[in-house]
Amino acid sequence: MIVDSHMHLGMSAVTPCVDPSIEAVLAQMDHLGIDVSISVGGSSQIFGRPEAGFETALEAYRLSGGRILSCAYFNPHYAEEDVERARRQLEHEAFVGIKIVGSLTECYADDERWHPAWRLASEWGVPLVVHSWWVSDYNPRQRYHTPDQFERYVRAYPEVNMILGHAGGRYEGHRAAAKLARSYPNVYMDLSGDSYSFGLVEWLVEQAGADRILFGSDLFMIDARTVMGRVLDADISLEAKRLILGENAVRLFRLM
Ligand SMILES: [Zn+2]
Repeated sequence: MIVDSHMHLGMSAVTPCVDPSIEAVLAQMDHLGIDVSISVGGSSQIFGRPEAGFETALEAYRLSGGRILSCAYFNPHYAEEDVERARRQLEHEAFVGIKIVGSLTECYADDERWHPAWRLASEWGVPLVVHSWWVSDYNPRQRYHTPDQFERYVRAYPEVNMILGHAGGRYEGHRAAAKLARSYPNVYMDLSGDSYSFGLVEWLVEQAGADRILFGSDLFMIDARTVMGRVLDADISLEAKRLILGENAVRLFRLM
């Protein structure tokens, strides 16, 4: 079973895409043999139209015959209403996790205001997918969620499985993500994003183990074929590829 554990339904506000329709997601899934895709924040959800995002997620679930699943999205500045909406979403079988993004909300990952998201993940027994990246002068908003900042919550909620989206995003971020994963059994990383360093998949497997890494495409911001190709052709065991491409996600998101 192949699971794309990190994609986004709909057109992103920051990256162009020829066809962001649900039909196009399904066509790409069929082409690559992806059985299940998980939208970790549809574009409407994360860019300010949460109810529209809810509708899109349900439509994708219905049109795909249950193959396209979603995460509830939590914005700490609208904590009460987002917790209430997340509960409504998690009651539906289309929703299998919770997503948080520090840069879009400009709230540091170790801030008090993220507690409700972690409590929700604990209460519902679902993974918390977090955007993780590293600081740079060309993208300063990424300072809100470097992997090390999550340690406070990872320790406070050992029962919550946290997936570091993009495995830290850039070189120093990858090192910080791998270190956190080595230190805590509830920390995972996904391969989505545009970090195409040579040998990255092999390095992450060596640093943290294949059982901590998940395939994720970042579709529609990224072409899913790029990440899939890097996993399929990585110099790692067949068993490691099985874990990364599907088995880890099936276990974490309880897909079977
Ligand atoms: Zn993403």
